[in-house]
Amino acid sequence: CSAIAGTATAHQGHARYKDPSQPIPTRIRDLMGRMTLQEKIGQMTQVDYSVVTPEVLRDYSIGSVLSGGGSVPFPKAMAADWLDMVNKFQNGSLSSRLGIPIIYGIDAVHGHNNVYQATIFPHNVGLGATRDPDLLKRIGAATALEARATGINYVFAPTIAVCRDPRWGRCYESYSEDTSVVQALTSIIPGLQGEIPAGGRKGVPYLGGNDKVLACAKHYVGDGGTTRGINENNTVIDWHGLLSIHMPGYYKAIIEGVSTIMVSYSSWNGVKMHADRFLVTDFLKNTLKFKGFVISDWQGIDKITSPPSVNYTYSVEKSIEAGVDMVMVPYNYTVFIDALTRLVNANVIPVSRIDDAVQRILRVKFMMGLFENPLGDRTYLSQLGSQEHRNLAREAVRKSLVLLKNGQNADPPVLPLAKNASKILVAGTHANNLGYQCGGWTITWQGQSGNNITSGTTILGAISKAVDVDTEVVFSKNPDADFVKSQNFSYAIVVVGELPYAETAGDSTNLTLAVPGENIISNVCSSVKCVVIVVSGRPLSIQPLVPHIDALVAAWLPGSEGDGVADVLFGDYGFTGKLPRTWFKTVDQLPMNVGDPHYDPLFPFGFGLATQPTGEQ
Ligand code: BGC
Repeated sequence: CSAIAGTATAHQGHARYKDPSQPIPTRIRDLMGRMTLQEKIGQMTQVDYSVVTPEVLRDYSIGSVLSGGGSVPFPKAMAADWLDMVNKFQNGSLSSRLGIPIIYGIDAVHGHNNVYQATIFPHNVGLGATRDPDLLKRIGAATALEARATGINYVFAPTIAVCRDPRWGRCYESYSEDTSVVQALTSIIPGLQGEIPAGGRKGVPYLGGNDKVLACAKHYVGDGGTTRGINENNTVIDWHGLLSIHMPGYYKAIIEGVSTIMVSYSSWNGVKMHADRFLVTDFLKNTLKFKGFVISDWQGIDKITSPPSVNYTYSVEKSIEAGVDMVMVPYNYTVFIDALTRLVNANVIPVSRIDDAVQRILRVKFMMGLFENPLGDRTYLSQLGSQEHRNLAREAVRKSLVLLKNGQNADPPVLPLAKNASKILVAGTHANNLGYQCGGWTITWQGQSGNNITSGTTILGAISKAVDVDTEVVFSKNPDADFVKSQNFSYAIVVVGELPYAETAGDSTNLTLAVPGENIISNVCSSVKCVVIVVSGRPLSIQPLVPHIDALVAAWLPGSEGDGVADVLFGDYGFTGKLPRTWFKTVDQLPMNVGDPHYDPLFPFGFGLATQPTGEQ
């Protein structure tokens, strides 16, 4: 296709690529025929918003901008501020020689979680417990609207990792240890992007309109299977295992029209995914016929070498040859652009590989109508954190809670709790900390502590609202045993768990409750009937505590709508959640997954007691 290598054409007046009535392949061919090598490589470059100006986007013909790791333009930036910022960048791109618009990406992984006052949905592990594909679709649609409220048209979600070991710091980003649960919940993709219409072509990138966003299935492939659950580590598994455990989510995502796929930092049998031509090009693009574009992870190509970046040119060469189409550079974009330009000019990387990458990126941009509608408008501003979305998140919370124990032996069940008790105790910092409830990837990359991080309802706030006006609610972060004994509580609700973390910072070998969780449980549960709620991204080491607990609930990382917890505690709704993961007895059993030969869990995969609603709502 020699025309594609072409040189710049001065006259854009009647450019066919600008004509929406032309078929997309025609528009791509026309545009690529006008592009210089520099402009093509610019399209393959994704930069962080913090290092670019609209002029840089214009001069380098940059293809995409991101807000990585939850970074925000300034603290408590509102939706309208984001919209203005994204549009400012877009206007820079539109003023470039060929006027190719950018796509703007962000990690909206449980709602539009970087943005102040957005609706924060439960993290994926909790959504896994719902087993409800329709709910996921609706969450995708709500997230798309909230992203569009800020002018953003691309989200790095969903994570379709199959987490096989809870020691992994990203386990809460995974729906389940079970492939079929993960596969069912990729239904969030048609929620985000819109559903391919009846008679439409399945398996090609799709976007249903300006109220939808591009999705990104990540991290291809085997990220959840690394040795000892170490983040970015090596996944040792044979071809059959890779295909049957880690790949099916991608088959489904492709059929659903996912537009982009992000490569994993991890390796498969010693080969870095970012350099794995067999898996990225031969299998994903050629065998599975994925027609969208492949994006690297954040500085993912740098990590092809050890230590990272020691030979950056080599990293660029290996990743582009492997089939990565867009590189999340994200800072030193001139170094990337120069390196790739030299590799092409020296015939190390063929122009045909560049053209494959660019036509994939342009296809997505034309397909989504970006040339016709590049700028975000104020239409969706009221969608951010709307009551409707908060109600949806609340529904997700109540469906995600898993009831693991309800009463001692032959005693009557503890749950649902009475709303008309005279005096109750709510104990533990996790009861009154919106940041803990939301976990990592909320406002900042590693998550936050505190209640003023964004708007929402804590579990304590929800309990206080749910009980009768005459009920006295006593809250104590860390009550001592004598205090508990000296009072006359009808019952106690103890909320314990993990502190927020993201990625490698969350890797753990002991999986213990954050201090003083165990003490709170023993101080409270020894003298009053107690319900323990665990707020965590994964099963934790709790086996010795369980006999002392009267009722036990796994709440995962429920997000901003604590009311969903109260809804089921007090019986307005029944418990329906099922464990998306095996709950181990001791960490030395790990990894242990359903179907393993010596399966001996504390609570098996799929376990979850049910309660009936009391009908009092
Ligand atoms: C993570 C990705 C994320 C990217 C951009 C990386 O560290 O692995 O999941 O999309 O950062 O923030």
